[in-house]
Amino acid sequence: MIEVKSLSYLYHPKTPFQTPALNEISFNINPGEIVGLIGPGGSGKSCLLRCLAGILTPTAGEVLIDNRPPQPENVGLIIQEPEVQFFYETVYREIAFALEYRGLNRKLIDRTVSDLLAKFNCLDKIGESPFRLSGGEQRRVAIAGILALNPEILLMDEPTVGLDVKGLELISRIIEEYRSEGKTLVIVSHDLDFLYPRVERYLVLNRGRLIADFAKSDYHHYLELLQEIGLGLPELAELKRRELPVEILQSLMDLGL
Ligand code: ADP
Ligand code: MG
Repeated sequence: MIEVKSLSYLYHPKTPFQTPALNEISFNINPGEIVGLIGPGGSGKSCLLRCLAGILTPTAGEVLIDNRPPQPENVGLIIQEPEVQFFYETVYREIAFALEYRGLNRKLIDRTVSDLLAKFNCLDKIGESPFRLSGGEQRRVAIAGILALNPEILLMDEPTVGLDVKGLELISRIIEEYRSEGKTLVIVSHDLDFLYPRVERYLVLNRGRLIADFAKSDYHHYLELLQEIGLGLPELAELKRRELPVEILQSLMDLGL
């Protein structure tokens, strides 16, 4: 279980550049929940994911995962352009390093790396430099590296940005796999049409504050609030303007219309 208690985060505290990014945020996420984290640009979504992943340490308050601060092996974070973090000379090492760090035996590491690359259609690149791959291949290898440790909790920051159709299919497949394995997912996306069929619950940030936390079945109650902060599905806003009863609105949304 993820517990976030009165979490605040300041970038560059006690300097002239001090920027409050998160302000007194509290919520829990149960194992197996699939949550959409939404909010306008600059509202603190990426900062919150980094705090959940343990990459940033809260200025105040705390994040606990199963009663402990986040550990890298339990929480995977797919950042917006994960390929910018390539470091090793081969695709193999790029994926193997986290497993090596964990002390797994070589046979198991080799098998895990091959299985992941095969799944992501990149097995033929295993000996190549990650820097020489195409953009799509780089993204797939970077994601494979993050999934190598098979984290119980996966955080995705704008996973659909800059992806082609194949890339989108891959992200959808990962989400479906996590769902069927009962794992926890938190997905940040400005693409509300992408999120809607995939998540069960929404957390809404605005200016570093959590302004709403609701189940998908209550989405229609929050349309106005979402529109006020510049979100909400345009098509749905239009339907609402035409004053369709909320039940019909909800059925249309459930049909993905
Ligand atoms: P979002 O992901 O919702 O667009 P961010 O979490 O990136 O928002 O940013 C939240 C706030 O923190 C914004 O005001 C942003 O300008 C600020 N911020 C983000 N990264 C830094 C940084 N490295 N240094 C200073 N301020 C930052
Ligand atoms: Mg962001």
